[in-house]
Amino acid sequence: MTQGGTNLPRVGGYNQAVVLDAIRTAGPVSRVELAPLTGLTSQTVSNVVRRLLAAGLISESGHAPSSGGKRRTLLSPRADGAFAVGVQLDPDAAVIVVVDLAGEVLASRRVKLADPADPAEVVKRVAAAAQRLTARTAVDPARLLGTGIATPGPIDATAGDVVSPPNFSGWGRVPLREMFAAATGMPVAMDNDATAAAIGERWIGGRARAGSFLFLYFGTGIGAGIVLNNTVLHGDSGNAGEFGHMAVQPGGRTCQCGSTDCVGPYVSPSGVMADLLERHGAATARRLGLAGTQESAHADWKALCRAARRGDPAAEDVIRSAAARIGRAARGAAALLDVDRVVLGGEALHGIESIMCEEVDAAVNTTSVARSIRRVAVERSVIGEAVGAVGAASLILHGTYAPGWRMLTQA
Ligand SMILES: [Zn+2]
Repeated sequence: MTQGGTNLPRVGGYNQAVVLDAIRTAGPVSRVELAPLTGLTSQTVSNVVRRLLAAGLISESGHAPSSGGKRRTLLSPRADGAFAVGVQLDPDAAVIVVVDLAGEVLASRRVKLADPADPAEVVKRVAAAAQRLTARTAVDPARLLGTGIATPGPIDATAGDVVSPPNFSGWGRVPLREMFAAATGMPVAMDNDATAAAIGERWIGGRARAGSFLFLYFGTGIGAGIVLNNTVLHGDSGNAGEFGHMAVQPGGRTCQCGSTDCVGPYVSPSGVMADLLERHGAATARRLGLAGTQESAHADWKALCRAARRGDPAAEDVIRSAAARIGRAARGAAALLDVDRVVLGGEALHGIESIMCEEVDAAVNTTSVARSIRRVAVERSVIGEAVGAVGAASLILHGTYAPGWRMLTQA
């Protein structure tokens, strides 16, 4: 998904990517441990490690305790080996971060979008803000790999376009990747926000996010990212994980897709707000300080989540019933995919993490067909609220350094 060439410290091959991934996931590790971890011979491991050291992507970081023989040198990833910019695009604002190879956020900024209906204006504003932010961090430009964009879907992954995203009114087919590449002069990678978040979680989560998991991303809507056996699933068109269109609510509200049984219209911030008005009335909304306008949607959602967290019965009621619906859909997805972990994250989850985790946990573990085999762990993102933007930056790091079939086919 990355385009354009660079003079950056690339790993330059599949074996290098495999070894770097093993060091990042299991590190600090010795050369001796790397052979069984990667399935490579000790001679190949030595050669690859030498190249990774020379590229500045790993460092020797002390010694393992001696077990009688020669002490083994430990290898760790070098945080300053490479950097990437991440942009999480939402209709009201963009969150921009600069991260290092370890996924540490060096700087971040939230930029209000003055005219979200105009893609050219959005790109110009965000690219300029990203350049200022990068300059402030004083990272070595030669080690800045590019910019990752996490955007609400749907996307055309091959072309790098977003295609009439329902949350950006007035956008038709927009060549977002190309526009950002032109505006930044750097390689750009793009994915839908939920998949980007899952990639970030996999990239940064180390052992805690090795294997398989379903990531539920809470933004303007709800989406899912899928990691199976350490591989991120994109699907044929790049739109795998359209969680909001899981059919769990027959005969209900009409979804943006035209169906009347999707979970999305019930669990998105606007859907939950509609629930509050339906079940508890306008007086309750006023009491909670919700303005109920299009412009106030972001602030209203935050206020509703705060109220639910402090135990306001009306707020908790509507959040809990949304969480239960999400749980039902997650149960189906977890059973279908055979994942042993469901991870929750995203900005819109702030304040309601406990309620969401409780309800999703209850749903996936009470009736899951897999419960006799193993319990499905329900956890919060290891990255936290910035998972969308950090995930976006990870698109670049993961795309450059994670072992993938593309490296084999290009080798
Ligand atoms: Zn739908």
